[in-house]
Amino acid sequence: MKYIGAHVSSSGGVELAPENAKAIGANAFAFFTRNQRRWTSSPLTKKSIQLFKERCAAYQISSDHILPHDSYLINLGHPEEEKLAQSRTAFLDEMQRCEQLGLRLLNFHPGSHLRQITTEACLERIADSINKALEQTTGVTAVIENTAGQGSNLGFTFEQLGYILSRVEDKSRVGVCIDTCHTFTAGYDLITAYDETFDTFEKEVGFQYLRAIHLNDSKKPLGSKVDRHDSLGDGFIGMAFFKRFMKDERFNDLPIILETPDSSRWKEEIQLLRSFE
Ligand SMILES: [Zn+2]
Ligand SMILES: [Zn+2]
Repeated sequence: MKYIGAHVSSSGGVELAPENAKAIGANAFAFFTRNQRRWTSSPLTKKSIQLFKERCAAYQISSDHILPHDSYLINLGHPEEEKLAQSRTAFLDEMQRCEQLGLRLLNFHPGSHLRQITTEACLERIADSINKALEQTTGVTAVIENTAGQGSNLGFTFEQLGYILSRVEDKSRVGVCIDTCHTFTAGYDLITAYDETFDTFEKEVGFQYLRAIHLNDSKKPLGSKVDRHDSLGDGFIGMAFFKRFMKDERFNDLPIILETPDSSRWKEEIQLLRSFE
């Protein structure tokens, strides 16, 4: 079975996220547990935590299908020590918020070398950052998202994701999220090389580490290295891929999250995907 939702708003409180998910007919969702554009935010209140849990239970959305996303400010591979430490502190706070909400997954972009250190040194830092966060928490899996490779962002090849994974000590609490737009603009041809792309994923990462999907079309062409999502069927990936994806059992039982730009179409996009199952 497939679990489909979108990255819904939680502005006004995390307890609104399950409401917003229900409104679009989702049985999975993503959200931010704090203001994603600030370094600090106030702790979750007991009331918010309780309501969040009650609503997820009432709508039968399991923590296996809820994918919180960390702040965009965090760079776990930052080349400068002070800023790396700031990112690690914020990431730990994000993990702890997930623990408080009874969640099991935390999705994040690996990090950027900012052209100051080598790719390898940056990947090592990212793995160290994950190790430190896992040591200080329990129950939450760090879910590394592949990127489009825009700017100096790393994690745009499956090989880089595999490299980070190989250096994480607790393999039971690390996984990956495949974003279809990022995959495509990073250079993997999901249209003419569907099988080859996922064979490469199996070889470099392994489906046993796959924890989530971001399902997006792309406004930019194959290999452009630009991160610009489009609504399903409107972009360069096209509907044939999404039809094939929905029939592929390797993507069952994972949160499949739309991050498509027009939120007014999410309900209809979810219905359309369901019709392809
Ligand atoms: Zn994404
Ligand atoms: Zn993106």
